[in-house]
Amino acid sequence: MISFDTSSASPSAKSTRNRHGLMGSLRIATISLMVVIGSTAMTSPVMARAAQSQADLSDAAIQTALNNAYAQVRDVKEGKNADYIPALAKVDSKIFGIALVTADGRVFTVGDIKSEVSIQSISKVFTMALVMEQQSPKAVRERIGADATGMRFNSIVSIEQSQKALGGLGEMNPLVNPGAITATSMVAGNSRDEIWKSILNFYSDFAGRPLSVDQEVFKSEADTNQRNQAIGALMYAYGFIKNDWPRAVDIYTEQCAVSANALDLATMAATLANAGLNPVTGKQVMKPANVPEVLAIMATAGLYDDSGKWLFSTGLPAKSGVGGGLIAVSPGRFGIAVIAPPLDDAGNSVKAQLAIAAVSNALGGNPYEVAAVAKKR
Ligand code: GLN
Repeated sequence: MISFDTSSASPSAKSTRNRHGLMGSLRIATISLMVVIGSTAMTSPVMARAAQSQADLSDAAIQTALNNAYAQVRDVKEGKNADYIPALAKVDSKIFGIALVTADGRVFTVGDIKSEVSIQSISKVFTMALVMEQQSPKAVRERIGADATGMRFNSIVSIEQSQKALGGLGEMNPLVNPGAITATSMVAGNSRDEIWKSILNFYSDFAGRPLSVDQEVFKSEADTNQRNQAIGALMYAYGFIKNDWPRAVDIYTEQCAVSANALDLATMAATLANAGLNPVTGKQVMKPANVPEVLAIMATAGLYDDSGKWLFSTGLPAKSGVGGGLIAVSPGRFGIAVIAPPLDDAGNSVKAQLAIAAVSNALGGNPYEVAAVAKKR
């Protein structure tokens, strides 16, 4: 895990931080509860927050935050391309681009936003979302789970740990390989082709343009993914996957090889920031009601076993991929994405974590940073 410099946090963010003791927190919880119980117009405070948030996000403030983060992080040398998938080792490790799309559809970029990488584990978010659309968030939680495993994304021990009968804790989620392969197995369709098309179309709707597969990466991973095949077989053996597990692993491998640039990824994140409505194309891609569950799982497991440290530093639901992409969502405000292939030990892009933390903290993107509602007495 890399360490974050939060010194770029906005002054208003700083002044609200660390003020609330336990009593203060409880008081806020009580007030929120009153709003939930007492109001039929639950949407109005939320809408007010969104409108207010956009007002804070001037074009100049956003572009300055992006430029500063880019300059701060550009020369960072730590990290290394993933190489367990041979094609990923060959990707230009200097690619570095940042894109931010606001919930009201404004687009900002700096650096390389033309180069595409395979989205890898970022795909897990959108396949999980598709299953939630086709079935329900509850179906995903019940079949797969919603708890962080605390282990690496391709841990087989985490599958054993999920078995209560073997003395495990029963924890699993759709953003690590076992849960993600299971989610892929749950996508509706009568043939591989039908399932694949619905996945790719769904991703493309989030990106706002037709995405395609990097065939070299797909083949490279398909030739070397025996570990994921073992995971698929084990998930079938334990009853998580109920159908053709080799097909699920194959489709999962293809979804990981979908190719995207930083702007595509930021638009996908912004669609999640905007209640499932793509703010650039205007298309409602998923039901607003299912977005909170997607974001909750991103918050708990989006950066694997470093998810807690990431949330501590930024408060943002996010998802990384070993291709070097990282997306993050500031609900009601913006989606942001960075591509920079060198990864840390947990498998997360070093530069992307630093850049997104810097931009978001400069823009007050942390959703837990709020202005006090009750007046001081
Ligand atoms: N396709 C990769 C794998 O299954 C995705 C992993 C990742 O991005 N963390 O190993």
